[in-house]
Amino acid sequence: MQLVRPSSLEEFAALGGEPGDQALAGGTELVPQLRDGLIHAERLVQITDVVPRGVEGTTIGAGTTLAELEHDAAIPEALREACRLAASPQLRNMGTIGGNLLQSTRCWYWRLQFPCRLHGGDVCHARAGQHREHAIFANDFCASAHPSDPAAALLALGARVRTDRREFPLDVLYRLPTADDRRLTTLEEGELILELEFAPPLASVYLKAMDRKRWAFALVGVAAARYEDGVRLALAGVAPTPWALESLDALEAAEPLPDNAYKVELAQALGRRAIASVSR
Ligand SMILES: Cc1cc2nc3c(=O)[nH]c(=O)nc-3n(C[C@H](O)[C@H](O)[C@H](O)COP(=O)(O)OP(=O)(O)OC[C@H]3O[C@@H](n4cnc5c(N)ncnc54)[C@H](O)[C@@H]3O)c2cc1C
Ligand code: SF4
Repeated sequence: MQLVRPSSLEEFAALGGEPGDQALAGGTELVPQLRDGLIHAERLVQITDVVPRGVEGTTIGAGTTLAELEHDAAIPEALREACRLAASPQLRNMGTIGGNLLQSTRCWYWRLQFPCRLHGGDVCHARAGQHREHAIFANDFCASAHPSDPAAALLALGARVRTDRREFPLDVLYRLPTADDRRLTTLEEGELILELEFAPPLASVYLKAMDRKRWAFALVGVAAARYEDGVRLALAGVAPTPWALESLDALEAAEPLPDNAYKVELAQALGRRAIASVSR
């Protein structure tokens, strides 16, 4: 495997983008996946010097680490807390916000390479098997639960994404997999996330329910952000993508699996607390 280190966006573009390329940021997700044979790469393209890093006003460079966001007073509380509650301090020092938004599902059937629908097969092993941590919305084809805390926070904060090719609202980054297209994001081959732009809220918060007190993925994460026209809610851990919620009443549309109906109650309880917290 080859490792290349372009020193600018121009140098990155000049590489031409080969089918076997994989962009490497902090490597906290990519390297274990390469090691476990979940993905393959002929060429790793280190993007540390290509993607902006740091915060300027309401713009976040995709190469900014979770630790940097967690400690930056200019970042809305929902995103700071979502970063603070993600992974371990070591991983937050390495892991970037761009890589976090693009992390793969934690579904252990997928991680253990069961031939499930997300791997191109025709069965969702989780639906028939163990699915306590899985999705309660949009879980028909694939019941994986999106693991990113910051993605839920950024969704509530009305974030927009700028790539090396286009700009779009964060929800457009994600898609539900189908029989014809198993991808969970809409990024094109070789497309790089460069920046994220958030809308500053009047108040915001992120609450996360976990099996352990620290360093665990969200069973349910709830982000709430208050603006002049009302409170925006977004959830982690409830659907194959980060999930925006019109209001807590929308939880009535959840379709839990036999062993995860508790997530609806968790989301209700966290949602009520989150709304109360930003409404004070
Ligand atoms: C043990 C463990 C616990 C964790 N717990 C949590 C948790 O509780 N909550 C949570 O939200 N996350 C959690 N994470 C995820 C962690 O935050 C991510 O692994 C990390 O943020 C990924 O960033 P990275 O820079 O290391 O990405 P990399 O590993 O370098 O890349 C990840 C993927 O994103 C692509 N990529 C990276 N940057 C870009 C870009 N700018 N444009 C296009 N593609 C890009 C890469 O090609 C790769 O496919 C956990 C991870 C681990 C290993
Ligand atoms: S939830 Fe998705 S990733 Fe997990 S087994 Fe089912 S199809 Fe595969």
